[in-house]
Amino acid sequence: MNNKAPGDRKVIPIIAQQGKQSAQPSESADGGVLSMYASHQTIYPRSVSGLFSNWRWGMVWLTQIIFYGLPWLEWGQRQAVLFDLASRRFYIFGLVLYPQDFIYLAGLLVIAALSLFLFTAVAGRLWCGYACPQTVYTEMFLWIEKKVEGDRSARMRRDAKALSLDKVMRKSTKHFLWLLLALWTGFTFVGYFTPIKQHGIDFLQMSMGSWEVFWTFFYGLATYGNAGFMREQVCLHMCPYARFQSAMFDKDTLVVTYDAERGEPRGARSRRADPTQLKLGACVDCSLCVQVCPTGIDIRNGLQYECIGCGACADVCDTVMDKMGYARGLVKYSTEHAMQQHWSPSQTLRHVLRPRILIYTAILVTVVLAMVTSLALRKPFKVNVIRDRGVMARMVEAGKIENVYRLQVMNATETEQRFKVTVSGLPGLAVTSANELTVPATQARSLVVRAQLPPEVALPGSHPIKFEIESIDMQVHDAEKSVFLVPN
Ligand code: SF4
Ligand code: SF4
Repeated sequence: MNNKAPGDRKVIPIIAQQGKQSAQPSESADGGVLSMYASHQTIYPRSVSGLFSNWRWGMVWLTQIIFYGLPWLEWGQRQAVLFDLASRRFYIFGLVLYPQDFIYLAGLLVIAALSLFLFTAVAGRLWCGYACPQTVYTEMFLWIEKKVEGDRSARMRRDAKALSLDKVMRKSTKHFLWLLLALWTGFTFVGYFTPIKQHGIDFLQMSMGSWEVFWTFFYGLATYGNAGFMREQVCLHMCPYARFQSAMFDKDTLVVTYDAERGEPRGARSRRADPTQLKLGACVDCSLCVQVCPTGIDIRNGLQYECIGCGACADVCDTVMDKMGYARGLVKYSTEHAMQQHWSPSQTLRHVLRPRILIYTAILVTVVLAMVTSLALRKPFKVNVIRDRGVMARMVEAGKIENVYRLQVMNATETEQRFKVTVSGLPGLAVTSANELTVPATQARSLVVRAQLPPEVALPGSHPIKFEIESIDMQVHDAEKSVFLVPN
């Protein structure tokens, strides 16, 4: 991968220059480089259509229908997906998760990490190019920009002109629409943590709590800044994944590649001209692949860390090839090995399914199955038995020995449950206090249980026992271990 930034002849740039469109560091009179920074030049990506663009827009629709729509779905009497931090309960459709279910969050993170490893090893920065929020929101903001200000050339021309009424009107409209979208995004984000309908009423009545105000505007303004202004700067300078993703690549990873063997020597020519007679390759040097690139790089210079693998250059180059009557695929998804060995697409795909990919897939499937099984077998209640340390083992009437326990029962469902408690583990051991309790939906209650043992059944010391807890309504049992103390 070419990690060399332009202009790094005499300095190690602190801020990497932006592709090939950045300014060069200035030089002093004696030739020494003074500036450690390159000024930012705006990138005006040209809009593009084609297979990969359709995939990206498909992902924009899919991810955003889910993101904006999910908090409005109802499940019974409540919001279907709600991460209620105040009461420490996560509601996900029929599932209610508690802090004790943290293992599932850990499992989810493991699945996300494994998926990233797998997809990166298969086809490089798939996440960056198609599903990353930075890409998705930038695409949406660019769409608004194009509708209001026109495509690349119109925007460049207008920006180069002095201030005019038309310019002010268009810029104001664009920023107004951006802010609306950004605010709606911030509002939706908070709607995952606080009931969104009430949040909407509070928002309209301007009676939101300080927490809601902060996160609605913080998330909204972060979206506005990142997708409207920062754009490729986030991918180039802020995203840690951009820095380490190349460690997951190998020579059989699909990446957007320029076929230099076919394209060079590049050069302009008429559509009717015969490139072999002109001793030219297939690249007509139209620079469209650079103009559509959201990070402003030239894919013909080889794989660069700035490339987010969006495929825009492949789409636009295919349209150029169509117009020229040449075969498509001068810029395409391919692997280093495929380019060297001149493999066909099916040969390339066969090599993409290499042992490393099969191992990643097997681990991922195993973790997903383990998590699904664990969720399916999850008990509808949780029990915690605590020996009451304030009341040690003691002798009661008829010489019986009594130990006192506190049972904390958490109802993990959304319907009320009745529970019955019994004890076993020693001959004659029995619960002598009330052994039934009712726990409201998603609540926890404790029950003080007295367990008594007939005299001379057990020797002095600690004896393992077991509490059986039965949900009378759901016919589900659970058992919790504890100990029974017999004093000297
Ligand atoms: S779009 Fe294709 S033909 Fe045009 S410059 Fe890029 S690689 Fe060459
Ligand atoms: S080089 Fe091509 S694939 Fe890479 S970011 Fe630019 S347009 Fe997207």
